[in-house]
Amino acid sequence: MKKLDDLQFQANFTEALPGDSSRDFHPRQVKNACYSFVSPTPVSSPKLIAWSDSLAAQFDLARPRDEASAAAILSGNTLLNGMQPFSACYGGHQFGNWAAQLGDGRAITLGDTLDPQRKSWEFQLKGAGITPYSRRGDGRAVLRSSIREFICSEAMFHLGVPTTRALSLVLTGDMVERDMFYNGNPRSEAGAIVCRVSESFIRFGNFEILAARGEVENLHKLLQFTIKNYYSDINQTGQNAYLELFREITRRTALLMAHWMRVGFVHGVMNTDNMSILGVTIDYGPYGWLENYDPSWTPNTTDLPGRRYSFGRQPSIALWNLLRLAEAIAVVLPDQTKELEAILSEYQGVYEQYFLEMQAAKLGLSKVAPESLLELYSLMQTNNMDLTLFFRGLSQWDHSLGTNSLPNFLIASSYEENFSAEQGEAWQAWLKKYMEIVAAENLPPEQRRQKMERANPLYVPRNYLLQEAIELAEQGDYSKVEILLQLFQNPYTKQEGKEAFALKRPDWARNKPGSSTLSCSS
Ligand code: AMP
Ligand code: MG
Repeated sequence: MKKLDDLQFQANFTEALPGDSSRDFHPRQVKNACYSFVSPTPVSSPKLIAWSDSLAAQFDLARPRDEASAAAILSGNTLLNGMQPFSACYGGHQFGNWAAQLGDGRAITLGDTLDPQRKSWEFQLKGAGITPYSRRGDGRAVLRSSIREFICSEAMFHLGVPTTRALSLVLTGDMVERDMFYNGNPRSEAGAIVCRVSESFIRFGNFEILAARGEVENLHKLLQFTIKNYYSDINQTGQNAYLELFREITRRTALLMAHWMRVGFVHGVMNTDNMSILGVTIDYGPYGWLENYDPSWTPNTTDLPGRRYSFGRQPSIALWNLLRLAEAIAVVLPDQTKELEAILSEYQGVYEQYFLEMQAAKLGLSKVAPESLLELYSLMQTNNMDLTLFFRGLSQWDHSLGTNSLPNFLIASSYEENFSAEQGEAWQAWLKKYMEIVAAENLPPEQRRQKMERANPLYVPRNYLLQEAIELAEQGDYSKVEILLQLFQNPYTKQEGKEAFALKRPDWARNKPGSSTLSCSS
């Protein structure tokens, strides 16, 4: 097995694309460049507090024995051979409005390294200090948000949802000030750095900023770089290659949305700068996991007035974001706007196909009628059913017990104490129809159960579970971070002694900051 400092790094992005090498890290507008070379700002006493063995194994990387030297690398204090740190320049539409230049204000890419299959992966530190894109920020990240990103990105991977990964979590030893709800109550919090890993961190916004500034040459270069490195299956050339790229990004984004809707994930800040061009989940901020089924739920208090990024709107917001990307690409394809529109018009159909396939699997069926699903979700909403527990309960339900009395799992997964007689009848009617379809499909019960278990996780990073891990970590106890990291490696398999992690959200967590409400302050 390798040690961290055995890894060889290269600089794919910066070698291929034009950049800013002024080494002026003051926040400013960076024109005619896709990135700026930067240096991580040293931290005072880095300490490694969590490590993903599962991701490390992909690089044949051993858990560090010398934690101090690993922490120095994973905080940016020590650079390894071949690392040429940079921050990317990107723009974005935030909450529906063009925000011009944003960029990596606190993320610094160290370099790319090859896995044993010779696939290239970018290592990036989040919270590594000031960059030209920091605007008014301090370039740092706090422990609570870093724990949330670390645990959730690893959990998403094991849930089978496309995502960036996280290798490590390091405490910086420095404090940072944050006003968690922007309400004039700042507090001093521990700083932390996550080492994120992805094939690429390019976002829709990297293209948008070049288009907005009319940097046409650079836009061509970034499109070609993206195709060559991440979409090498595209064999068209010239303009057709760009169209094919956009079609594939659209397809992957639709697939990602269907997964989020399957597992109950709410991103919380689907701005175009938080949309990956690889169709992976990126930038874990004030995200949340749906508990009682409510499509209008958003965990992000910053989003509360309009609920733009609520659970149910995610697929249509993704389309809105794809339209912004299409507008950027149209700058280099002025004669092909019809073709771009045609691709966008396919999005809904592509999404629905993925969505219905996944929903059918959740129900243990080969296909499902949209009307039946609508009926189900409307019942779930009326009775405040926990999304995760309902589907898991349904997968374990023995149909031979019939529906004369309401199955136990229904009551057990509801946040209501009682169902009205009318609601009970509506459930019985739905379940009866469901049983008939199941019977007609004729899949042996054991196989159906397995199929349903593979589509319906038992353990998800419920906000209150993360909050408990965070509160302990803020006292210096990282045990729960480790427990959750391990637990979420097998989210679909019942684990001995882990019953407490597969329960309904307790009452105390219903309105607790961090458990039910979050903000962009991180
Ligand atoms: P987000 O909402 O986290 O996606 O961030 C939006 C923009 O704000 C990105 O350009 C981030 O790099 C930047 N940003 C967020 N927090 C900080 C911070 N503490 N310091 C500097 N830039 C930040
Ligand atoms: Mg972001």
